[in-house]
Amino acid sequence: GSTADSLLKVSDLVLHFGGVKAVDGVSLQVLQGDVHCVIGPNGSGKSTLLNLISGIYKPQSGQILFAGQSIGGKKPSHIARLGMTRTFQNIRLFPEMTVLENVMVGLHTRTSASMLQIGFGLPNAAKEERAMRERAIEILDFVGFAESNQLAKNLSYGQQRMVEIARALVSNPIILMLDEPAAGMNEEETRKLVHLLKRLNQTGLTIVLIEHDMAMVSSMASQITVLDFGKQIASGLPDAILSDERVIKAYLGE
Ligand code: ADP
Ligand code: MG
Repeated sequence: GSTADSLLKVSDLVLHFGGVKAVDGVSLQVLQGDVHCVIGPNGSGKSTLLNLISGIYKPQSGQILFAGQSIGGKKPSHIARLGMTRTFQNIRLFPEMTVLENVMVGLHTRTSASMLQIGFGLPNAAKEERAMRERAIEILDFVGFAESNQLAKNLSYGQQRMVEIARALVSNPIILMLDEPAAGMNEEETRKLVHLLKRLNQTGLTIVLIEHDMAMVSSMASQITVLDFGKQIASGLPDAILSDERVIKAYLGE
């Protein structure tokens, strides 16, 4: 696609940790409506790339444009407010909080914006709180999670992952980025996850998905970028990428 179409454009992004070239000149474009999958062996720089895009790390060089705006080096909260949210490779729920409370945490990334938007109609904080609670319940319903009063620590691993996705969705992002969401999920949970992500994509959500499960990638991806040793070794449509010799070699060499 042309530059004008791309919602997210990463150019020549670099982040080294000492001698480790974690991300070493990566460029990619995510178009509106894409499910853009990022694949590659362990240690190839996938999570670091996502950490750069979401503002956890500052790039040493290169550019990140989100909806035409430069966001490289901006704070994670700033980037979330612009409409890009994410989940982490390791679950980051508050174990002693309920499902609902955990999801509502995701709304605080946009609190200042929502207060401005609805502040005129809502005279007090209690109403704001109630609106946030309703929004959180609505999104939990959407992801198919009914028991919102359970403590997060009492959920199965796959359920916790779904709650994390709900938290990332509750602020109504433009792009959702997921770092290996199916890791540790059983077959049934993975099937539900794929179904949810497809439904979200059909409603217009653009998705950036880091994933090891190749069946999942081939069933969902509209574009694939392959990383190896911090460099992208291939990028394009699923059929071409998944039959690419360099890609197969990078995986077999793992
Ligand atoms: P992937 O997600 O593809 O498995 P990562 O992005 O986690 O890969 O890691 C890429 C490389 O950068 C690895 O060699 C990893 O050990 C290294 N790395 C990642 N984060 C850090 C860090 N905070 N400090 C030092 N090295 C890191
Ligand atoms: Mg990773």
